[in-house]
Amino acid sequence: MKYVYASPSGENLTKEQFLTYFEKKVRKTIRTNRLIGKKEKILVAVSGGKDSASTAYLLEKIIKNRDVAIEAVHIDAGIGDYSKECKKNVEVLCKKYGIKLHLLSFNESFGHNLCYIKDMLKEKKISQKSCTTCGILKRYLLNKKAKEFNATRLATGHNLDDEAQAIIMNMFKNTMPVMARLGPISGVAEQKGFVTRIKPLYFCTEKEVRLYSKLMNFPVKYEKCPCREEAYRKEVAEVLDEFEKKHNQTKYSIVRSLLEILPELKVKYKGKVNYCKKCGEPTAKITCNACNIFNGLRT
Ligand code: AMP
Ligand code: ZN
Repeated sequence: MKYVYASPSGENLTKEQFLTYFEKKVRKTIRTNRLIGKKEKILVAVSGGKDSASTAYLLEKIIKNRDVAIEAVHIDAGIGDYSKECKKNVEVLCKKYGIKLHLLSFNESFGHNLCYIKDMLKEKKISQKSCTTCGILKRYLLNKKAKEFNATRLATGHNLDDEAQAIIMNMFKNTMPVMARLGPISGVAEQKGFVTRIKPLYFCTEKEVRLYSKLMNFPVKYEKCPCREEAYRKEVAEVLDEFEKKHNQTKYSIVRSLLEILPELKVKYKGKVNYCKKCGEPTAKITCNACNIFNGLRT
């Protein structure tokens, strides 16, 4: 018998057993956290990587017989060959599994690609990491387009490792209002103008998603984005990996601890939602982060 994985309880699993174990975990996450209701239209944000490919495939597989529509959206940030490959992968994946795909790009939406925006901001002495700029613009576009496509939920490929890192980063930097927006359903409350984000892979580790994606032979890129500048997150990720090696289930415990206090955090940091003076998108400030970037490019 060829085993591909040892589960946290120490059980050795064959390929078929692992695929079933993984899919069961995602089904349970969706069910127990009520990620998807009846008559929803779910838009899956697919990047061309393993996490969002697994998310799109599994949502299509798990809920295709229910009264729920699954569509995918991909944003081409215009990062040279890397973005071209990601886009190609997403197209192949969606065609293979019959998922309707919406293609967007920074160029079409904002008039420039990420590299140009990054250079312009630098020239204007606006110091912002390229991951921050890219993340703000992607979230802005995804929320805006999700509304245009009448989606009721936006699904992302965030996994257990991503969440554990985010929790520790928020603790180390004491950014509790940001912490309050974490969880399998993002946001602090149902807000008008904000499409609720869901994370079906919330309890799946990075290692598990990687194995699932490889066994399923998804057309994805396993290398990280060449523009990546997330030194702090990387440090936290390395520490957590070290800890996990010595102390089984560390990342899971971090996430479970957050879930214990998350309801209180969500109440405490509910805050008032404003709508951006320039574009009307929801924001905690007067103008949204994306409009602040556009403004920086103009001035
Ligand atoms: P990241 O912040 O790059 O780790 O991405 C987190 C999640 O955002 C991914 O799992 C995807 O669901 C989504 N995402 C990232 N990049 C893109 C993209 N270019 N197009 C669509 N969705 C994306
Ligand atoms: Zn705005």
